[in-house]
Amino acid sequence: MRKRVKVGNITLGDGNIYVQSMLKKPAHDIEANVKQALELQEAGCEIIRAAVPEVKDAKLIYELKQALKIPVVADIHFEYKIALESVNAGADKIRLNPGNLEPHEREIVARECQKREIPIRIGINAGSLEKDLLQKHGVCAEALVESALRSAKMLEDIGFCDIALSVKASDVKMTIDAYRLLHKKCEYPLHLGVTEAGTKRLGILKSAVGIGSLLCDGIGDTIRVSLTDEPIEEIYAALDILKAAGKGKGAEIISCPTCGRTKIDIIKLANEIETLVTGIKKPIKIAVMGCAVNGPGEAREADIGIAAGDGSAVLFKKSKIICRITEENMLDTLKKEIEEMI
Ligand code: SF4
Repeated sequence: MRKRVKVGNITLGDGNIYVQSMLKKPAHDIEANVKQALELQEAGCEIIRAAVPEVKDAKLIYELKQALKIPVVADIHFEYKIALESVNAGADKIRLNPGNLEPHEREIVARECQKREIPIRIGINAGSLEKDLLQKHGVCAEALVESALRSAKMLEDIGFCDIALSVKASDVKMTIDAYRLLHKKCEYPLHLGVTEAGTKRLGILKSAVGIGSLLCDGIGDTIRVSLTDEPIEEIYAALDILKAAGKGKGAEIISCPTCGRTKIDIIKLANEIETLVTGIKKPIKIAVMGCAVNGPGEAREADIGIAAGDGSAVLFKKSKIICRITEENMLDTLKKEIEEMI
């Protein structure tokens, strides 16, 4: 049984997987950050994190709390006064590694968080492992896990157990191994991610392999895709990874790759349908198939689908054949049926 940790109006460990991202505007530019945060919330972000590099930047946390419905996490390194100021500003969670603070400082922060029932995420990254662990293990999954558990113990020893953990590396295999090991060794909710995954194309693939493998194992409570790109791309990618791992919240398109049998423009149609359903929260399956080989089977399994032939297609809805439609009417008909369904 995983431990449950409340973050604002959501609960990590309740069986759902929550999508999160991090704001990328300069911390002092409150207006730009709030605008970006609202866009992320609209796109499906469920937890938002903001870096708070200086005490005065805690004002950003306050403004985000005023503007957003979703929980706000303050990301802090080294300076305990920033953590206190962020907690005062209304942060729903703080990300902080207790090993970066002096013992008396971490106790002050933990007491304040405890008083306000705010959890702490300990985020261990392969790039900032402690020296003794590097000497003992080198950079590896065991070192990441030992660092996370050691950091958690620093808080447990002062009676603070409202903890979430992450153990990220840019190496996908190391990330997967670390989370699998950590999952066996503790019951804290896990924040999944492949760190510094790279630019959009490879970053999404690395995240999909890393986060996706863990989700398929039943590991993870919240996910963040880290891309060298706009944060909204992280949200789109995270939502797609959830869908691909069978834990999706929105519409899913099943479309054939097309081949020499295809007689209509399935690539164009599938892409148009994908644009149409972006942002739909209802979990519906839409099949866009090119011929009678696998088409009827997939279309029948979907909530709505077409199995195309030469210039026309059979329309399926909830396993039943509804009618035959011509190529010119396919997009409009599917659009109408999808709108009715949602
Ligand atoms: S469903 Fe038909 S058209 Fe599509 S890839 Fe398979 S065989 Fe080819």
